Amino acid sequence: MNRRQFCRTTLAASFAAAYPFMTGCGKEAAPVPTKVDTGIAAVSLDGAEIELEKAAIKELSEAFAGEIMLSGHPEYDSARRIWNGMHDKRPALIARCINQGDIQNAVTFARERNLLTAVRGGGHSWPGKSVCDNGLMIDLSHMNAVTVDPVMQRAVAPGGALLGQLDDAALKHGLVTTAGVVSHTGVGGYTLGGGFGRLNRKHGLTIDNLVSAQIVTADGQLRTASADENPDLFWAIRGGGGNFGVASQFEYQLHPFDRSVLSGMIVWPVEQARDVLEFYGEWYSGLSDDLYVGPMMATMPDGTSIIGMEVVYAGDPVAGEKEMEPLRKIGKPMDDGIKMQDYMVMQTKEDALFAHGIRSYAKNGMVREISQGLVDAMIESFVSDPRMAMFTHTAGGAVSRVGESATAFPHRNAETMVIIGGGWMDPAQDEEAMAIGRSWFKQLEPFTGGYYDNIDFDRANSGGGNYGPAQERLAKIKGQYDPGNLFRLNRNIKPAA
Ligand SMILES: Cc1cc2nc3c(=O)[nH]c(=O)nc-3n(C[C@H](O)[C@H](O)[C@H](O)COP(=O)(O)OP(=O)(O)OC[C@H]3O[C@@H](n4cnc5c(N)ncnc54)[C@H](O)[C@@H]3O)c2cc1C
Repeated sequence: MNRRQFCRTTLAASFAAAYPFMTGCGKEAAPVPTKVDTGIAAVSLDGAEIELEKAAIKELSEAFAGEIMLSGHPEYDSARRIWNGMHDKRPALIARCINQGDIQNAVTFARERNLLTAVRGGGHSWPGKSVCDNGLMIDLSHMNAVTVDPVMQRAVAPGGALLGQLDDAALKHGLVTTAGVVSHTGVGGYTLGGGFGRLNRKHGLTIDNLVSAQIVTADGQLRTASADENPDLFWAIRGGGGNFGVASQFEYQLHPFDRSVLSGMIVWPVEQARDVLEFYGEWYSGLSDDLYVGPMMATMPDGTSIIGMEVVYAGDPVAGEKEMEPLRKIGKPMDDGIKMQDYMVMQTKEDALFAHGIRSYAKNGMVREISQGLVDAMIESFVSDPRMAMFTHTAGGAVSRVGESATAFPHRNAETMVIIGGGWMDPAQDEEAMAIGRSWFKQLEPFTGGYYDNIDFDRANSGGGNYGPAQERLAKIKGQYDPGNLFRLNRNIKPAA
């Protein structure tokens, strides 16, 4: 493919062509009659078969401002679907909440019956933790209206809001906070796990910008978690995931921001990967906090393999141009797309590539140093297959200035996160595509230490080792707020006795 041909198709568009399922996938199951007249079969927290009584469901329904959905409800099938098409589960009951009282009622209903419970924020859990078979799905997707106080420079996002809604609401006031790179991801799971985005280096992780949260704990109580109120709970939810309750809303610190930013991507043929990565290995440690820049390697649907550098410069563009000069002198790029453009161009450019319904796998590791060994491994492990790619999430800067034990997210010393991930549409390719991802990552793994729970398909049940020094305190706080482990569909922390 020559340069002109490449430029005619944007990266996103050519990736998009590889994934025809973007227009929707999977057939809705034919509605089956609801079994509410006789009670419905369900499953308890420990997997035992139980029955939910008709009268109790009716009572819950009547107390609910939102909606209780059973199989057969016209929206049941769309409500149970989450982003990753690999997960096709059928909850006994979906509680679509529209206010905090609904969440409290749903949590109380589940606790009283020892009912298996999943919590759905934006539904982007790679391992599918936000839906379950035969349990209760607490669906927050209709609690999503973000409000902004421009004077206090704060945003309040309900637990089912999406990152794009947070970005949009804040940017209208010339404000921003760190948000991830695909706008249809939910604030819920994203924030509770840490929150990496393109403003990390300047403003820290999303949890570093969390001022407070409202949490419905397992006892059905609504609690504020902040530096002043329930500080232990506040510490735990900043990295400990959904283990401690249902977050009905998050309050974020915002920062003044000019949404017109120097940003985009430079792309080279993969044959120039060594030049690009060796340069990056020397260059990255002296970068300013304004500059977010990290490599990715992928293969286009036509078989062309590329290495790209994604850039967002969150400061004075003149200084940005100067700081990026050396990068632009590397090799012979196929395309240099770095220019002044609206921040949301970058924040939405991968939305279609990672469209709802794809079958997707991802695995990652935290990296402290872009060593020569890692550069060699990135080049040697590269697999030319449009279904899988290597991505990075740059950290350092403000992320690393927060203490290792200041929040429950311990991987503060990492300079970057290396991710192998991708998508396909044919279920028959599941095993093959995942095997490619696993073996690719295996070659990079020796250069990593720990991983980011939120971007991982395989290790959702692997225990608490990844929390490092935070593990013991997390178990204690879990024991205090969720002694019966009601909230276990997450990377679960076993409650300390
Ligand atoms: C396409 C894509 C792009 C991504 N990009 C980034 C990125 O740039 N940066 C980054 O850091 N991560 C990223 N992630 C990972 C993302 O942070 C996690 O997938 C996260 O769990 C998504 O949150 P969610 O609310 O959409 O997920 P859900 O599937 O709804 O939930 C995930 C987990 O969090 C729990 N949970 C969700 N909401 C709540 C709540 N309100 N209260 C209590 N528990 C809750 C669920 O029970 C579940 O255990 C990305 C994921 C995808 C699929």
